Amino acid sequence: MGEKRLAVVTGASSGIGRATARRLAADGFEVICAARRTDRIEALAAEIGGRAITCDVTSADDIARLADEVGERLDVLVANAGGAIGTEHVADAKFDEWRTMYDTNVIGVAASIQALLPALKQAHGVIITIGSVAGMVAYEGGAGYCGVKAAVHSLMMALRLELFDQPVRVCEIDPGMVKSDEFALVRLHGDAAKAEAVYAGVDAPLTQEDIGETVAFVATQPEHVNIDQLVVRPRAQAAAHKIHRTG
Ligand code: NAP
Repeated sequence: MGEKRLAVVTGASSGIGRATARRLAADGFEVICAARRTDRIEALAAEIGGRAITCDVTSADDIARLADEVGERLDVLVANAGGAIGTEHVADAKFDEWRTMYDTNVIGVAASIQALLPALKQAHGVIITIGSVAGMVAYEGGAGYCGVKAAVHSLMMALRLELFDQPVRVCEIDPGMVKSDEFALVRLHGDAAKAEAVYAGVDAPLTQEDIGETVAFVATQPEHVNIDQLVVRPRAQAAAHKIHRTG
């Protein structure tokens, strides 16, 4: 038996990241679980036989520590940490919240990739980011979040070109509506009733496990297969802003 393949999942304390860490561990990866909430990632790491590292992706020091923890070789980076804050129209936008979204979803993803790229090259690895269908079609109240996810898409396209002669694959997974642990709760500033209403009447939104499954599919392709982009939606959602609801 050779050494286990190594994966890093950022934003592993909740939602898609947590489900992905569990799924990759089930596939035989050693998973480094990174997020800000140490207690949660330590519990997860103990459960799946992985490692936990407290890491705020907006902190250069934390990212450097993450790279130290990884060492020389990394097979899979799942740059997942992120999310939306607020639903205001541009007329009422809170730009501090926009800055946090850009820092986390765009710069945080780019910084994670930059720091771990040497180890990914060494292992002929794969970079998987979690974008969103929000980056493809804008909707009212989504200017901030749609903008950051559109930026993630551009980042990944540029990166794939830059790495065209390097042994690293670059994949973007763009989920539609996922009823994850905290996405809507964080976006709506902790208002549980409003967060629940986001999914009201929707017949089967995606689960975080659905996306974990998709990540595992991409991560376990043969080395010559680069899945550029995967758009994954629930059947009830034809576009980011067109959702079938009943009741
Ligand atoms: P979630 O349950 O709120 O999880 C978000 C994760 O990101 C948490 O683990 C959080 O951990 C982490 N995070 C946030 N800021 C961070 C920071 N500065 N540094 C490190 N970690 C940070 O939401 P989710 O639905 O799983 O979202 C995961 C990703 O999927 C996000 O990029 C989101 O935009 C994307 N996405 C979600 C949906 C959806 O409908 N749910 C659809 C498309 C795309 P800590 O708070 O512990 O740091």
